[in-house]
Amino acid sequence: MQNVKGTHDLLPEEASSFESIENLLKKVASLFAYKEVRTPVIEPSELFIRGVGNSSDVVRKEMYTFLDKADRSISLRPEFTAGIIRMLVNNKTYATEELPLKYYYVGPVFRYDRPQLGRYRQFNQFGVESVGNNSYFNDVEVIMMAYSMLITLGLTNVKLKINSIGDDASRNNYRQALKDYFAPHIEHMCEDCKQRYELNPLRILDCKVEEDIKIAENAPIVSEYLSKESEERFNNILALLTEYEIPYEVDPYLVRGLDYYSETVFEFHYVSSNGNNYGAIGGGGHYHKLVKELGGPDLPGIGFSFGVERLYNVLKDDNLLPEDEDKVFIYIMPMGLAARKYALSLASDLRMSGYITDYCFDDCKLSSMFKRAEKKQAKYALIIGDNEVNNEKVVIKDLNKQEQIEVPAAEVVDFFDKLADTEE
Ligand code: AMP
Repeated sequence: MQNVKGTHDLLPEEASSFESIENLLKKVASLFAYKEVRTPVIEPSELFIRGVGNSSDVVRKEMYTFLDKADRSISLRPEFTAGIIRMLVNNKTYATEELPLKYYYVGPVFRYDRPQLGRYRQFNQFGVESVGNNSYFNDVEVIMMAYSMLITLGLTNVKLKINSIGDDASRNNYRQALKDYFAPHIEHMCEDCKQRYELNPLRILDCKVEEDIKIAENAPIVSEYLSKESEERFNNILALLTEYEIPYEVDPYLVRGLDYYSETVFEFHYVSSNGNNYGAIGGGGHYHKLVKELGGPDLPGIGFSFGVERLYNVLKDDNLLPEDEDKVFIYIMPMGLAARKYALSLASDLRMSGYITDYCFDDCKLSSMFKRAEKKQAKYALIIGDNEVNNEKVVIKDLNKQEQIEVPAAEVVDFFDKLADTEE
């Protein structure tokens, strides 16, 4: 039986790396005073049609949508933002909590995309949403947080691409300019672009078809259509990024694939030292109609999300994966039945005191137990034989230093506690 196309398993080592990556991201988010939220994987399809927008590829082509047993149209979330906004509207947290609401999230999302390098149908996103503050300082802080997260992970060589797609008036003017530009070409462009032309010509700039990319090369750029306010806002943001030494590159054609964005949009890119390019490792932007569209008050927001698989891939390529936090610390080696009985209760004491302890269940030779301990990368071995059981003693062996001492059984936990104190 094969796994579903576009999905992947995480074996223990990979799962541990994912957890370490997510923990580092969570840590930085908490330092920026963000709190975790969790929303359902399934939502009414309508949420994404209204929230993400029916001109986006994600909604038009990539949603996993089905009817439940009561004929409701349900979709697996293709992204988090719409669900989080639904959550805060349903719970009116904007009325009870201090604004901006600062939330972070992590979990699986589903898109019926074409699987290829760095592209899956089920993948994990880590992201944040800040809702209820329209200051451009807030935009800068959110970008700064994303940047700090990447630095914390060890990705110093990221490329931040940024653009402004302006307010409603700017985008209306720009859409018209794009329509005028593409009008003589659209007949020869792909079927998707023909639909994009009608629904939202900005999306044509995301087209991946080579001939269409060539046509789009000379398309007008949004900066020429920005209102005075949008231009000023964008320039203020760029000036602060420069002041805070966050390197960026203005990409005049960056429009992002989801319909709710306005003003600032950005993406992070990284090419591994072996040349692998998995696509954007993260992206986000400002939005101002989404909360209202989903039944809430008129509040703006800004957010971004990272693809956890893509972070994992680039970190792995560049030997930057965080250390496994949960390595076996103590491996117990009981010789004989009496020792085994005794060992299990000792293991339990050690585990309850916070030491990751594993234990050899098989009746095997000491040499083979040492091999097992080595495979598990254990730091200490606890050797218990009949003699030790009778004398209520155990032998503790430091597997790195290859030194051993005998300790009264009742003092084993104490021994490791003292060791931890001296190591601190
Ligand atoms: P988006 O909101 O579409 O820009 O997605 C945010 C981030 O999720 C992207 O920057 C990628 O890192 C990641 N991502 C998007 N689509 C996929 C996919 N099909 N497989 C893996 N990661 C993805």
